[in-house]
Amino acid sequence: MKHKVDVVVIGSGIGGLCCAAVCARAGREVLVLEAHSQPGGAAHGFQRQGYHFESGPSLWSGLARWPSNNPLAQILRALDQPLEVIPYSNWDVLLPEGDLRVPVGRSGFEAVVRDLRGSAVMEEWQRFSDLLQPIAAAANALPLLALRPGLDAMAQLLERGPQLFRHLPAMRHLSGAFGPLVDRHLQDPFLRHWVDLLCFLISGMPMGDTNAAAMATLFGDWFDPEASLDYPVGGSAAVVDALVQGLKRHGGAVRTQARVERILLEDGRAVGVRLQDGESIHADQLVSNADIWSTLALLPEGAASAWRHDRAGTPACNGFLHLHLGFDASGLDDLPIHTVWVDDWQRGIAAERNAVVLSVPSVLDPNMAPPGRHVLHGYTPASEPWDLWRDVERGSEAYNALKQERCGVFWSVLERKIPDIRDRCELVMEGTPLTHRHYLNVHQGSYGPALSAAGGLFPGVTTPIHDLWLCGASTFPGIGIPPVAASGALAAHGIVGRQVQRSLLKELGL
Ligand SMILES: Cc1cc2nc3c(=O)[nH]c(=O)nc-3n(C[C@H](O)[C@H](O)[C@H](O)COP(=O)(O)OP(=O)(O)OC[C@H]3O[C@@H](n4cnc5c(N)ncnc54)[C@H](O)[C@@H]3O)c2cc1C
Repeated sequence: MKHKVDVVVIGSGIGGLCCAAVCARAGREVLVLEAHSQPGGAAHGFQRQGYHFESGPSLWSGLARWPSNNPLAQILRALDQPLEVIPYSNWDVLLPEGDLRVPVGRSGFEAVVRDLRGSAVMEEWQRFSDLLQPIAAAANALPLLALRPGLDAMAQLLERGPQLFRHLPAMRHLSGAFGPLVDRHLQDPFLRHWVDLLCFLISGMPMGDTNAAAMATLFGDWFDPEASLDYPVGGSAAVVDALVQGLKRHGGAVRTQARVERILLEDGRAVGVRLQDGESIHADQLVSNADIWSTLALLPEGAASAWRHDRAGTPACNGFLHLHLGFDASGLDDLPIHTVWVDDWQRGIAAERNAVVLSVPSVLDPNMAPPGRHVLHGYTPASEPWDLWRDVERGSEAYNALKQERCGVFWSVLERKIPDIRDRCELVMEGTPLTHRHYLNVHQGSYGPALSAAGGLFPGVTTPIHDLWLCGASTFPGIGIPPVAASGALAAHGIVGRQVQRSLLKELGL
């Protein structure tokens, strides 16, 4: 193994892979170092007894069509790595108001609102939708891939001047939280709860803390008469594989089971990394895709101490309980790919064990499970308190008892959908924030930084240490697949320069 490359990326999450692939495409020699045995981070897939399990994302969109405002779709296109996806257009929700099948597009959702809450509330929703359209258009007018690291907003506005000026009135909404818009324009409790749920699924935080641009983009996509969500054939592992293949075709490489133990600095510059096995690898530029707390722990004592102190205080979102099942599919013909359950709106959407996502990808992609079987990933999104797990040792008796008790929430929801689910199961795996931390190397098994959009944007990809960049869910624009892909491109563009970025944007027509 060669000991000097142009760019080392620590971590093969979607952000790290996107960064690596964009750098490699620009001719840089890139090496991605991943601690786990599989690439993909929160989006990695794993197999047991013929079942293909997902570890993270279940909701994907904007991958099937072009043009797409999804930065991941844009990067895959730049890499010429097409993805096969299965579009679908509804999902089930089990809410205090009742069990509903909710279509993705605008008119379908309006019909659900009319049936549930009456015509006046549907009209309230229509007015809100109309209000969001120019905000969504403003968000789309400034593609995230066009941004430069450092977030010099004024320079970006001037550069894209004519395209952007007509969106200026709507742009003031983009950098803040979504909550104030909702507070001003939605009174109906169901509509407000619905928006809060979607915000929570996107950001891990309620609407008062979720970025307005992210939500306007989501609703903008859903207003499209052809709106659909996409399930990537082969699951998130197929997305990761497409990025890895794109990287390799451009000469890059990924090494798994390569845990970085230390970022090496010389004269205040990042010059390489030392792995856990003692090997040192040098690089002209270093990018950390590890979360912010893990990245800080890799730096030598005393380096950039004011910045480290500041970033070490970043609050963390809560973590996850997971349920992975392989089960008998016979007679379950009407099962949706996703079911989202909320117990009690009054407890708040972020309350512990108040919301569950159940995802059964094999209803769309039968190859995810052996014939006649289904594979399920259930999780409590960003709501499991770390304090419950902090002092428990993974694998101990106390741990197993706590795990069984906490994961009980999944079974009661599942039994509503499939009363004999326990008898059908061939394979059962339950997971906790400790499992999550163990496999994904994430601080406290957290979803990511709990940085409220009301307090501003996520920190950018630059650091005070020369030649050290950041990307992933701890950096602007934030948590979730499209944002981390964008952060990877942002860091890459900082490394490869403005000219390369311009020609990429031109090729993509952005
Ligand atoms: C259960 C769950 C459901 C989700 N659902 C959705 C969804 O439906 N839609 C959506 O858009 N988003 C969803 N997300 C969020 C999304 O998956 C994440 O925000 C995103 O994948 C994080 O990517 P990242 O680039 O920050 O890297 P991460 O996925 O955090 O990966 C970082 C990588 O760095 C590696 N690493 C860390 N330290 C080191 C080290 N010292 N040496 C070497 N390697 C190291 C880790 O092993 C890891 O592979 C979900 C997340 C989870 C967990």
